[in-house]
Amino acid sequence: MSNRNFKRIVLKLSGEALAGDQGFGINPVVVEEIAKEIAELARTTDLQIAIVVGGGNIWRGLAGSAKGMDRASADYMGMIATVMNSLALQDALENAGAATRVQTAIAMQEVAEPYIRRRAIRHLEKGRIVIFAAGTGNPYFSTDTTAALRAAEIEADAILMAKKFADGVYDSDPRTNPDAKKFDELTYMEVISRELKVMDATSTTLCKDNNIPIVVFSMDIPGNITRAAKGEVVGTIVRGEE
Ligand code: UDP
Repeated sequence: MSNRNFKRIVLKLSGEALAGDQGFGINPVVVEEIAKEIAELARTTDLQIAIVVGGGNIWRGLAGSAKGMDRASADYMGMIATVMNSLALQDALENAGAATRVQTAIAMQEVAEPYIRRRAIRHLEKGRIVIFAAGTGNPYFSTDTTAALRAAEIEADAILMAKKFADGVYDSDPRTNPDAKKFDELTYMEVISRELKVMDATSTTLCKDNNIPIVVFSMDIPGNITRAAKGEVVGTIVRGEE
């Protein structure tokens, strides 16, 4: 497949991915496993790797606002949760021998660099893994939007959406419908019009407008992040019409 020769990618990890089976919080053993795979990928290829981590394993803004909190405040808490995840991932990546930088969309200079697009690109060019933390810095958005936005900004070749409990995009939920059909390829328009669960609609639109392919695959299978990053056919690819 022609556009699967990626040079620069944004890997989107949901917060849930760092929680392991406990489903909540950060499981250092799980983080170490993920980090080892990513560090190995960085060491053995020329691929430039940026990572966006979610925060749902700690806090989701929508859940807070559903219980009566001010939505913006709840969302800021969610963004701060992504910083905790990013620091955990950075620590594990560095233990695994990778050079990394965390850049936050909300300034906290004692903890990490602020997000500066040109600087992020420079880090990537030098072979450092850049972790984009604190989402977009804006409430009412998600870390999927962050992945789409940063991918557009740094001109990434693709977004790799590593999913827990799903090995691609289906026409219905495979956990409840044994006849659910998995797609190998989809267009952005199909995802939007059929309301398929790839990423939220804002993020899909952003990818569509900037023609950024999205690879949705399972991270429950060891080695899958590497396969997806090397352009092997895993999961479902979402892109524009040929
Ligand atoms: N969030 C936000 N703006 C952003 C990114 C994230 O307000 O640009 C908040 C939002 O409350 C969200 C939380 O951070 O619920 C955690 O992010 P997300 O739910 O995307 O994490 P994931 O589902 O990937 O673990």
